[in-house]
Amino acid sequence: MLKVDNVGVSYGGIKAVRGVSIELKPGELVSLIGSNGSGKTSLLRAISGLVDIDQGSISIDGKDLSGISAHDRVKMGLAHCPEARKIFGQQSVMDNLLLGAFLRFKKEKKSEINQTIEEVFNIFPKLRDRQNQQAGTMSGGEQQMLAIGRALMLKPKILILDEPSMGLAPVIIDEVFNVVGRIKETRTTSILLVEQLAYRALQLADRAYVLEQGVVRIEGTGKELQDSPEVKSAYLGGH
Ligand code: ATP
Repeated sequence: MLKVDNVGVSYGGIKAVRGVSIELKPGELVSLIGSNGSGKTSLLRAISGLVDIDQGSISIDGKDLSGISAHDRVKMGLAHCPEARKIFGQQSVMDNLLLGAFLRFKKEKKSEINQTIEEVFNIFPKLRDRQNQQAGTMSGGEQQMLAIGRALMLKPKILILDEPSMGLAPVIIDEVFNVVGRIKETRTTSILLVEQLAYRALQLADRAYVLEQGVVRIEGTGKELQDSPEVKSAYLGGH
């Protein structure tokens, strides 16, 4: 469904992504791992339409995305949960969730939106308890849950998660990955996950790619990469 073919991204003279091809099939969870500066975030931003590509092509269900704005890509079912979680801090948790569904209000009934809110609350019970709290006063972990919950409010075909564990305490990280695993199990949303914690990312992944200096160095199933001596020594530390 999502096809990235020979894509390049440059910032001035710096080539951050150099001819990357990856694929995300329906219901799959695909992880991208790689060290700092290997081009992971740039690739995600190119897919979402937040930066231009200077070579190659990106398509969803065979439709080429060139010339399609980030906003219109969201309408096509692409939800990007960015690295620095950007929730609306002044608004309540509930308002944040409703804002996440803004594109659906035109064509869907309130009851259908409420149904998704229920689903999000079932995944994140804490958000139900905190629905009237000002979002900016929640803990880092709670804000991350809200950011993912808000992305799910779109009922996206494709969910892009950029470093969901960033800045979180270990026990909260466990919680976040449990949730990502549960979203994966529904197999209704395909997930592209970028994560520094390579071991976690590979455990969850159906397939994964290792990016190095803007190119795909290794690809395979999550299991193959976990067992790969090269991946083990470079990315898996003690695991
Ligand atoms: P990290 O894990 O540290 O977030 P990453 O794999 O996501 O890294 P990118 O953020 O995509 O890597 O960065 C790839 C390269 O592009 C880096 O050398 C970075 O300095 C450069 N880069 C990223 N954004 C910009 C920008 N807006 N302007 C100039 N250079 C940039």
